[in-house]
Amino acid sequence: MPAADTSQIDLSAVRAKYRAERDKRLRVDGNEQYEEVAGDFAYFVDDPYIDEVVQRGPETRDVDVVIIGGGFGGMLAAVRLQEQGIDDVLIIEKGGDFGGTWYWNRYPGASCDIESYIYFPLLEETGFVPQQKYTNAGETLDYCRTIAETYGLADKALFQTEVTANEWVEESCRWRVATSMGDELAARYVVHANGPLNRPKLPAIDGILDFKGHTFHTSRWDYGYTGGTTAGGLNGLADKKVAIIGTGATAIQCVPHVAASAEQLYVFQRTPSSVEVRNNADTDADWLLAQDEGWHDERRRNFETLLAGKPVKRDLVADGWTDAFKLLVGGLRDKAPSRARLALWAMGGLVSPKLYKSGLKKYLTGKAMAFMNIAEEMEIADYYKMQGIRDRVDRVVEDRATAEALKPYYRLFCKRPCFHDDYLASFNRPNVQLVDTDGRGVSRITENAVMFDGSAYEVDCIIFATGFEVGTDYARRAGYQINGVDGLAISNKWADGMASYHGLHVHGFPNAFFFGPGQAGFSANFTYALDEQSRHVAYIVAALKQRGKKRSEATAKAEADWVAEIVRKARDAEAFQEACTPGYYNNEGQLTRRRQDQAYGDGPVAFFDRLAAWRAEDRLDGLVIT
Ligand code: NDP
Repeated sequence: MPAADTSQIDLSAVRAKYRAERDKRLRVDGNEQYEEVAGDFAYFVDDPYIDEVVQRGPETRDVDVVIIGGGFGGMLAAVRLQEQGIDDVLIIEKGGDFGGTWYWNRYPGASCDIESYIYFPLLEETGFVPQQKYTNAGETLDYCRTIAETYGLADKALFQTEVTANEWVEESCRWRVATSMGDELAARYVVHANGPLNRPKLPAIDGILDFKGHTFHTSRWDYGYTGGTTAGGLNGLADKKVAIIGTGATAIQCVPHVAASAEQLYVFQRTPSSVEVRNNADTDADWLLAQDEGWHDERRRNFETLLAGKPVKRDLVADGWTDAFKLLVGGLRDKAPSRARLALWAMGGLVSPKLYKSGLKKYLTGKAMAFMNIAEEMEIADYYKMQGIRDRVDRVVEDRATAEALKPYYRLFCKRPCFHDDYLASFNRPNVQLVDTDGRGVSRITENAVMFDGSAYEVDCIIFATGFEVGTDYARRAGYQINGVDGLAISNKWADGMASYHGLHVHGFPNAFFFGPGQAGFSANFTYALDEQSRHVAYIVAALKQRGKKRSEATAKAEADWVAEIVRKARDAEAFQEACTPGYYNNEGQLTRRRQDQAYGDGPVAFFDRLAAWRAEDRLDGLVIT
């Protein structure tokens, strides 16, 4: 990246352009613009992947732990509990197999932008060697099966089974868990490992139900219709005209495959994503297998330390995510503000100027600090980064108008950064047309077409790449209500914002554990956070058993103190978010999101260390145990 020459940038013009792009996308309906996938739309969440529908009668069981969700979170919870000698575990999973997000999101091209050597959990335990630096859906699902086999999890799971209600019964000191199969389950503990992006959403476009052609959401890919596999080869589309609605991280990955197979593809864009190079590479198995014991945790920690803006001796992952932070740390170590400036873009949105400044103070002299207008430096560096991304569009996309429409005009972390080597080039194909809606979205859908601006684009199939619910009621996303002591519903408990102790325990909900980023350590490598939460839960359940205790509940004080700490440490990112183009990162532009709903402000590694220290004390502070 060239050195930032501030004299060349008219920052006020950049701000005005970004503001104009944001303004034309702002809508009063915010999250309400989306249709809940229920009622007439419920078929959008039918499971297209099961070979055989499970036929079984209701079960009545009483177990130590019910784990809701069979994704990485649920599997890790089961594994870590097993390591603590707790085997009486039942996993309840809506899908037909393990995998969670990877079970559902098996659209062609589905892959993970986080390095596989840190994304895959339990790598040292299983000895598994991922094929490439960035893995794909096929390998990830296989790996989930490997974990299940290694730890004998299949015998502990009820598949194709949805939890419908979860209620605390004080008399028996157990959770009563009801399911779609009529099961009557009693559990001493319940782990809610539902996943943060589990509930597909649809745009409430007029006429969706009028469409007579084929349609599905990317998280329920219909290979019966498209043919092919997660690796592509969608030969069923050879004589089909297809519309993809949405251009987020999912669309970026599936568009190249649909483009390669369909007779005609129309990509309906409301906001372009930022798309950087991906640079995948084959794994050197000898290198991976020769790593010293403990390498996996060290690598995960190294990655997250860098992303929290803290220095490390060596960037072990060295990729698009860490590049920026590597520059930052290098710049700081050299005490050279000009170098630090180059990397400041990366911090935009992730770290507030205030927090960043306090970090810088450790490295720069007071004099140097005084000369740096941190917020502006961040903005300039961000501009350079985004301009590089826009320049790449010009280099790859041949048609000038299409290239122009594909350029993102917002700050990098306003939306999820994407990495792909073929997405942009797909628009050079003669059978692919970008329909840029200039921020407005599709106008309506008819029996046989997608409409925009008075033009009808006739299609056989519409694929919704429109993402997942974020910020809606917890019970709605989970698919079941949770009623704690005296019947208190989690929806009511959290109506005015999340309240928890360590992000895991909730006062009024004894013996329940909640996995997720809220009030916990949010890690870009989400499986790492799930693993740490699983270790913590396993320790607590084992500690209670050892002490002969059956009930644990966060005290009201511990919860209130934790909420206060979350608020105190929260990033003051409101100004940044306010200036962002709408999306799920900023609650669709409606800044009602409360600071208390944020993750732990000091970053995931500090949070994990905090939990580890709490475990080491072995006092179960903050919990009433009886
Ligand atoms: P997103 O929410 O990121 O994207 C939804 C897309 O639908 C946006 O482009 C949105 O436009 C568009 N859209 C919504 N309504 C309309 C409308 N009425 N007309 C036209 N377009 C519309 O969902 P994704 O599934 O793409 O990604 C969700 C998350 O999943 C990612 O952010 C990431 O965290 C994760 N993921 C990670 C991957 C990876 O590791 N590579 C791959 C895939 C997903 P607008 O932007 O204007 O709202």
